[in-house]
Amino acid sequence: MTADRPVLILLNPGPVNLTPSVRQALTGPDLCHREPEFAELQERIRQRLLEVYGLDAERWAAVLLAGSGTAAVEAMLTSVVPRLGKLLVIENGVYGERMSQIAGIYGIAHAVLTYPWGHVVDLAAVEQALAAEPHVTHLAVVHHETTTGRLNSLGDLAALCRRRDVRLLVDGVSSFGAEELDFEGWDIAACAATANKCLHGAPGVSFVIVRRDVLEPRGRTLYLDLATYCRVQDARSTPYTQPVHLYYALDRALAELAMQGGWHARHSRYRALAHQLREGLSALGIEPLLPEGQSSVVLRAYHVPASIDYTTLHDALKAQGFVIYAGQGTLTRGIFRVSTMGAITFRDIERLLAAFRHVLGKE
Ligand SMILES: *Cc1c(COP(=O)(O)O)cnc(C)c1O
Repeated sequence: MTADRPVLILLNPGPVNLTPSVRQALTGPDLCHREPEFAELQERIRQRLLEVYGLDAERWAAVLLAGSGTAAVEAMLTSVVPRLGKLLVIENGVYGERMSQIAGIYGIAHAVLTYPWGHVVDLAAVEQALAAEPHVTHLAVVHHETTTGRLNSLGDLAALCRRRDVRLLVDGVSSFGAEELDFEGWDIAACAATANKCLHGAPGVSFVIVRRDVLEPRGRTLYLDLATYCRVQDARSTPYTQPVHLYYALDRALAELAMQGGWHARHSRYRALAHQLREGLSALGIEPLLPEGQSSVVLRAYHVPASIDYTTLHDALKAQGFVIYAGQGTLTRGIFRVSTMGAITFRDIERLLAAFRHVLGKE
């Protein structure tokens, strides 16, 4: 391995391959999190996170946490829903189900609308559920359900929420930075996300973009309480030790995103990579799980070809330098997933397709 070439191309949905300069940033100087240099770094990251979707710092806060994406989702649900509030959780994959699990553990009143993994969320059913549950104050939904690659229709759900005065909480962990998130237009109350998916940072830092007027101390959790983090971060400090080197990497990754043209440009690039892959796999008779237009640009699920089992496919591709990702739960055997996040090139996809041809004996 050379300094700027990873041994393995990661096609799993995070952590992603880093660019050489983001990797280099990880070796930045040791820094005390109580010193002004840290305050500046943290402030710059918070500002850059808001700039990804052009948000006004008066109305919105980016609250930084140490932890993976799940920490941000858990912080969002426990910190935003009031004691007397009630959540409606939409499930059509692993991550929607995880939100219900979090609500259950913390005793947050919640109702659940469940669809089989990968199925489209039926808007009429959501409308009915909101009518049948008049005490619902918040709706929680996964934007991009990484379980299957399905992009849930946030704009339509937002319109339903607005009509019923229900606040919208979004798990944007695998979409923030590469898919459209119209925070103002869709009246999003909070959105949880992470450094190491579409933003191309290193794993271990996550964040919640939250509308300032929905943040109040809720007293459900000490470590994940967003109101505390926000208050202290606004005062240019941090309540607990932060992973300084991961902050350097995220700062650099956000600078690169901006230089490359922001989320629109990243969206286009992912889409082109995903298209190249889809065409190439289709020529090998490997078909996608979802029809074109229903998947995110971030990740696509494909049926495992009949001639091979998943583990053999995975191991053979890995031997050639590529890590694909298994399905989860009931989809473990039938599908594999390929994400185009991270420092991946068209040449990498070309080589991946050659590896598929080799493994399937179709050279
Ligand atoms: C990756 C992911 C998460 C969080 O996973 P972590 O392993 O905690 O980073 C949550 N929601 C979605 C939609 C994800 O893709």
